[in-house]
Amino acid sequence: MTDLNNPANELVADDLSFDREHLWHPYTSMTQPLPSFKVKKAYAATIELEDGRQLIDGMSSWWCAIHGYNHPELNQAVTDQLQNMSHIMFGGFTHDPAIQLGKLLLEITPPSLDKIFFADSGSVAVEVALKMAVQYWSAQGNSQKTNFVTPRSGYHGDTWNAMSVCDPVTGMHQIFGSSLPNRIFVPAPKVGFYEKWDQQDIAVLEETLIAHHASIAALILEPIVQGAGGMRFYHPEYLRQAKLLCEQFNVLLIFDEIATGFGRTGKLFAWEHAQVEPDIMCIGKGLTGGYMTLSATITSKQVAETISQGEAGVFMHGPTFMANPLACAVAVKSTALLINQDWQKNIQRIETQLNRHLTPLHSFKHVADVRVLGAIGVVELTVNVDMKTLQQEFVRRGIWVRPFGKLVYVMPPYVITENELHNLLTQLVEVVSSMEQNI
Ligand code: PMP
Repeated sequence: MTDLNNPANELVADDLSFDREHLWHPYTSMTQPLPSFKVKKAYAATIELEDGRQLIDGMSSWWCAIHGYNHPELNQAVTDQLQNMSHIMFGGFTHDPAIQLGKLLLEITPPSLDKIFFADSGSVAVEVALKMAVQYWSAQGNSQKTNFVTPRSGYHGDTWNAMSVCDPVTGMHQIFGSSLPNRIFVPAPKVGFYEKWDQQDIAVLEETLIAHHASIAALILEPIVQGAGGMRFYHPEYLRQAKLLCEQFNVLLIFDEIATGFGRTGKLFAWEHAQVEPDIMCIGKGLTGGYMTLSATITSKQVAETISQGEAGVFMHGPTFMANPLACAVAVKSTALLINQDWQKNIQRIETQLNRHLTPLHSFKHVADVRVLGAIGVVELTVNVDMKTLQQEFVRRGIWVRPFGKLVYVMPPYVITENELHNLLTQLVEVVSSMEQNI
């Protein structure tokens, strides 16, 4: 606990009260904010708080820090690039970091994808994908196909159109009311990743496309793992069937791989579980190893050429920080670092450990489900957790886990050692087990 007789801790308390008073945090009230812990530094899978406490990281800063924090090679990539330039406009200029990153991404993303648009965040990559889809149809003289279909329980970001395709309940559509465009929702895929496929799971999507395909530009979904909308893992056959339907009904297919990319699900990208290639794919988060914000929307030659041959003649988007060289340079290094190691074996190691520790939680009455895929472990409880109390308890025990809703979940940095992961999961399991009395 913070000792206020210690002058250093007084300073921390001052800073925290400034933070509480003036700095908005994600999804947080400005009158009753949840407590924030002040971080001094982070390295590998350790987060060190200002007061010296060390936490084992279970979150990878929301899927991003795949190689952990303060990685010497990533630091070096940033330092080297700084000597040349941290930024230069991408309008009229190009540069090595963007070109190298482009080459690398084309090697590891679906073979049919060929044209890359670099943007600044996951949400913007989704906006770009949605705009590409609409422009694709309008370039062919079809101005009817302007809407989108998407499964419930999805999450695609917080900007306007990205939000419009998030789950209407967890995405809080009622707050924004009619200011949000009305999208077409189908039920979330029900058949789990490890379950037996049931063709019924795709039936409503088929009916919806039969009824509405004339107004639908694209189907957008997170392949295999629905992340912030519920941490649900669904059957690869859903993607294969969805692809067939999209082809049949002239609807583009957009995969949002912003969370699932860069090895997290056990494949480099989640589409590989189904071997289904989308028309447009969004990546972000782990792209820079969590060093800075960068995303990419990648599409096929056919989509890009169709857009370019349309009335506008160009794709109508051009962010100021497009292809930021500093971000591209660190993304090149991070991606190379990942693919040049035996990352599959490492993810399997994490997956095995997650299974071993978390599976026994199944036997508790207050645990609705336990699921593990790749380096993602999820414990779903029967009731919502008290995030504030739980987070404080995790910190007290030296681990960083941030639950939401009914979900206590981890997606640790891939550099986490066996010992660290053991400690992280032992503490997590103890906390979750002890909740039985209070539920
Ligand atoms: N899509 C998915 C699947 C995501 O998980 C997120 C972020 N949680 C986003 C889009 C939005 O990314 P960003 O927060 O970088 O805008």
